[in-house]
Amino acid sequence: MTAVIRGWLILAAAVAIVWASGTLFHAMQEREPIYPGAGVTRIAALSDYVPSLRGTAADTPVYMLEGRQPGPTLLLFGGTHPQEVSGVLAAVIVVENVQVERGRLIVIPHSNQSGFTYTEPLEAFPHDFEIPGASGARRFRLGMRLTNPLDQWPDPDIYVHYPSKEPLIGSEARNLNRAYPGRADGRYTERLAHAVLTLARQEKVNVVLDMHEAYPEYPIINMIVAHERAFEIGTMTAVALQARGIAMNIMASPKNLHGLSHREFGDHTQAQALLSETANPGMGRFRGRTDATLIVEGKDDNYVAAAKLKRLFVPFDASGHPLSSRVARQIATIEELLNAYNDANAEAGFKLSGLPEYDAVRTKGLGAFLASAR
Ligand SMILES: [Zn+2]
Repeated sequence: MTAVIRGWLILAAAVAIVWASGTLFHAMQEREPIYPGAGVTRIAALSDYVPSLRGTAADTPVYMLEGRQPGPTLLLFGGTHPQEVSGVLAAVIVVENVQVERGRLIVIPHSNQSGFTYTEPLEAFPHDFEIPGASGARRFRLGMRLTNPLDQWPDPDIYVHYPSKEPLIGSEARNLNRAYPGRADGRYTERLAHAVLTLARQEKVNVVLDMHEAYPEYPIINMIVAHERAFEIGTMTAVALQARGIAMNIMASPKNLHGLSHREFGDHTQAQALLSETANPGMGRFRGRTDATLIVEGKDDNYVAAAKLKRLFVPFDASGHPLSSRVARQIATIEELLNAYNDANAEAGFKLSGLPEYDAVRTKGLGAFLASAR
């Protein structure tokens, strides 16, 4: 082979690699559409509260579902950790289905937009997954737990949380849920945290629910974590879910663990702050083949084996933990949290319709509650 032909072949291979990776990179940047339902009265942006965020990767839509009658306000987060997709889907379903009569819901489905723009190298994660529906599928991105290094780099050796001075491993500097209350002149993740907290203060939010997932071998799953001012309504929520056969436990927010939403919204705003966790086998170290099917169907033989060895903190059989069941659990938690808030407060509470039923989400699937897939 002549040097010229070899040169052309190498050039062609380089162009193919750049084209393939560029296409993938572009797809990860493309935000999936959300179709606001009739209950959405206004779409704001996080940069409306902190204008310096405008035009940055941190800016994200804020969906306002305002009732005709004044009442309390719930601030709902999905995508604090973009890998934890049950919270994202639950937030999207609220935006597309719920109508508020009294009070307000403020919903941020993609809280850390940056984390949706990459997946961890060498972990073989799919970049997106689809939810099937009667008339087409909806694509959602699978992101990672931390801010994309392209938006915040390099990591310090030790991340010192502001203002507590608690030291954490350096990569946690990119963790939104270790960055609260944040600061206006900090790193990307601290600025994002500051903006979300500013929103909660300005909108005089009464309750915060930050929706997460964790792997089945982690003890804090199927759990509500509550700040001490929210512990009563958190307990009432967990008891109401258990009475319906939905196993959900309650845990107190540790006072010396800083940067977490349930700690810092409780300490730095007037809101009662809670966090929910479902069990996602697509995140764990025992997981087998990691593809979009695992993310959506949540079935994995390795986890069935691990459950038999009593290594897990949730039951795990061949039916797995499908995304539809995990989203149903998040939505039932929202429902019972609103009921608990109403029961604990004398003034007129939340009144809304359109929140899907737990059993309906599990049996009909998510596609039945997503706009374009209807
Ligand atoms: Zn999380």
